[in-house]
Amino acid sequence: MTETRLRFPPSPTGYLHIGGARTALYNWLYAKQTGGKLILRIEDTDVGRSTQESIQGIIDGLEWLGIDYDEGPYFQTDFAEDHTNAAQNLLTKGAAYKCFCTKEELDAKREAALAAKKPLGYDRTCRNLSASEIAEKEAAGIPYVLRFKVPERTGTLGYDDKILGRIESNYSEIDDFVIVRSNGKPLYLLCNVVDDIRDRITHIIRGQDHMTNTIKQVLLYEALDAPLPVFGHMPLTLDTKKAKISKRSHGEIVAIQFYRDSGFIPWAFNNFLALLGWSAGNDQEFYSKEELIRDFSLERINKSSAIFNYKKNDPKFFTDPKAIFINEHYLRTMDIGELGEMVRKELEADGLWNDAYGSVQKEWYLQALDLIRGRFHTLKDFTTLGRAYFADDFTIEAKPLNKNVLKHEGLQQWLPKLADRYERLEEFNLEETERVARELAEELAIKPGIIINAMRTVVTGQLAGPSMFDILVTIGQEKVVQRLRGVGKLFV
Ligand code: GLU
Repeated sequence: MTETRLRFPPSPTGYLHIGGARTALYNWLYAKQTGGKLILRIEDTDVGRSTQESIQGIIDGLEWLGIDYDEGPYFQTDFAEDHTNAAQNLLTKGAAYKCFCTKEELDAKREAALAAKKPLGYDRTCRNLSASEIAEKEAAGIPYVLRFKVPERTGTLGYDDKILGRIESNYSEIDDFVIVRSNGKPLYLLCNVVDDIRDRITHIIRGQDHMTNTIKQVLLYEALDAPLPVFGHMPLTLDTKKAKISKRSHGEIVAIQFYRDSGFIPWAFNNFLALLGWSAGNDQEFYSKEELIRDFSLERINKSSAIFNYKKNDPKFFTDPKAIFINEHYLRTMDIGELGEMVRKELEADGLWNDAYGSVQKEWYLQALDLIRGRFHTLKDFTTLGRAYFADDFTIEAKPLNKNVLKHEGLQQWLPKLADRYERLEEFNLEETERVARELAEELAIKPGIIINAMRTVVTGQLAGPSMFDILVTIGQEKVVQRLRGVGKLFV
């Protein structure tokens, strides 16, 4: 069997977005599953729109996701000679012809066809020019494009789409399309095929938006004497209103960078992307890398559009809730050591990392993460909601401050009193911290909840979290005492 060779050929005219990343992932999965290769090809022929920033964004995005490639990045512009040679070859063998029709002529014909309700395609005026007519026009310096000569056949032309099944078009519906512009530049449609032939691509898995190209490209493969690869056209990713997702209408959330910068776990995001348009036919939601490589199949990619469930202006929906849900799952269940590495990067970025967390305090560090990860959604939460574990300059949220502290004037005396007793404890453990807090509440004849909720607010800044006594022990005697004593500051 020949090796499967897949490719991801983005045009570097923007950022790597959800749809592109999903395409890359599906190609990568199939390459891995079949022991084949994935090639990264940057399709930068549109020089005016391609940017270095975009190229870097694509490469960084793939790296963040862990989608590695076996060859590339190749750059389409480096193969310009192949493209012109292929065009020349088609011309020489009579599969293409020079067309001297001017834009004005074409426009006029189009108008006339519209008025007469006739087909709008090119009327093939130049298809059968004689050698002398061609020579004459060339001598007169009339510019020309190269058009592909669609074979004169009746019936249909098609291919077996791995996802959609048999796709066919009538020969009569296919226009003699342009393959080289009048400035001598081959069209993308041709470059794409020439590159895929040279790169020996066996499977082309891409979006349905390329299907109008595919039918023409099938003809190019034939004319270039190359075997037809397997095609699979994936449904597009739409929003809940069935509109194509785009940066213009949806903002940053369509860019992969957004997920990296928002503290998503790379594999969790791949897991989300995998399910955005594919399912094994059961309701499994979490896949390890190995499972996904094993279970993925092109045939089970959905035929209908994938829906990216994003509701603007709802903070709970800062992106598709399913992406958040899957991220939470990984955050809460992944190997703690691995999580430790990821959180380390966040802490470092915020200047909160302490080298001891990697050595003498490693056990403490990992236990602290394990304690707090249960309520977190992204890696960012460790430095925001969880800041009190790593720094003293954390924010006390307004809601718990008002509800749990400022409402009870007495706390200005009660918490410092508790601090004194905590300071004297020889064993600062779960039992002792709880016993002392309850004893104090009893002496003061107040509900223990008042002390406990106030403590949570003053010690962590948060309204909710893990068990209070676990928190105290984790944050440690010295800091707890200091924070409880400082309660008075909050009342001014
Ligand atoms: N460069 C094309 C794009 O970014 C990819 C075309 C293809 O997959 O053949 O849409």
